[in-house]
Amino acid sequence: MVDKVEKIWFDGAFVPWDEANVHVLTHTLHYGLGVFEGIRCYKLANGKSAIFRLSEHVERLFDSAHICTMKLEQTQQQVVDACLESVRINKLEECYLRPLAFLGAGAMGLGSTENKTHLVIVAWKWGAYLGEEGLRQGIRAKVSSFARPGINSVMAKGKVVGHYVNSILAKREVMAAGYQEAIMLDGQGYVSEASGENIFVVKKGIVYTPPMGSAILSGITRDSVVTLCGELGLKLIERTITRDELYTADEIFMCGTAAEITPVREIDDRRIGAGTRGPITERVQKRYFEVVRGDGHPEWRAPV
Ligand code: PMP
Repeated sequence: MVDKVEKIWFDGAFVPWDEANVHVLTHTLHYGLGVFEGIRCYKLANGKSAIFRLSEHVERLFDSAHICTMKLEQTQQQVVDACLESVRINKLEECYLRPLAFLGAGAMGLGSTENKTHLVIVAWKWGAYLGEEGLRQGIRAKVSSFARPGINSVMAKGKVVGHYVNSILAKREVMAAGYQEAIMLDGQGYVSEASGENIFVVKKGIVYTPPMGSAILSGITRDSVVTLCGELGLKLIERTITRDELYTADEIFMCGTAAEITPVREIDDRRIGAGTRGPITERVQKRYFEVVRGDGHPEWRAPV
């Protein structure tokens, strides 16, 4: 269960947690046209807090809305300020932030355009998404039988509410079989991403990840990892990856705001590399946690 905080930002003002409610005819609840973000705020080594890559997340929220022909009533700056204020007002040092834009109640037709576009921002405490042990030892993943929808059927670059049916089906399928995370292939069978993370493969010292022009979300953690790999002197190549390349990789890790940098130790019952967090994964992970907690790249952190 999500730990309750005091206030939720709702269409421009803070309301008490228990009053942040909607009507059952909320359009997005029925049809899934809504857009959202997942953002983390970290406590820095100096004791202060900062939201990691806040402006990039807010920009993606507006891009997602634009892709979905939804018009947000706020400016990007107002949303940035509201995220910072959500952390302050709830006196949180570290938290996850969830801005969600959705179409409200009113008309019910698929084509209705008069429903109000609401925006909420909820903050709550959220630890390691795939577990502390997962961060250290790696997780067990399985390729799902659910493919990532093709780039001409859903708009993968948008973080769209309805797209997550596909992710949840994949996640539920593999969890029921005893695995922690689902990896999805695209319509052609190439490795796409995990249910809520981008994927990286290490082979003979080179780091590979599927290209932006494939059916993946443009992960902001992925972008941080690409930059940090460069700074660590690691060669990184964006190219299509096949399923069997996963099996024969030296190391694999997943990354996302919630999952951070999580090593993968097993896929489809095949051990990956040494079957634990690999040395390159460890370097990238260590550097990522240093940066989110205040060491380097100040432009990536919005002080609370
Ligand atoms: N892919 C999907 C499908 C996701 O839901 C997420 C989480 N937002 C990611 C990748 C990783 O994106 P980010 O690093 O921006 O959190």
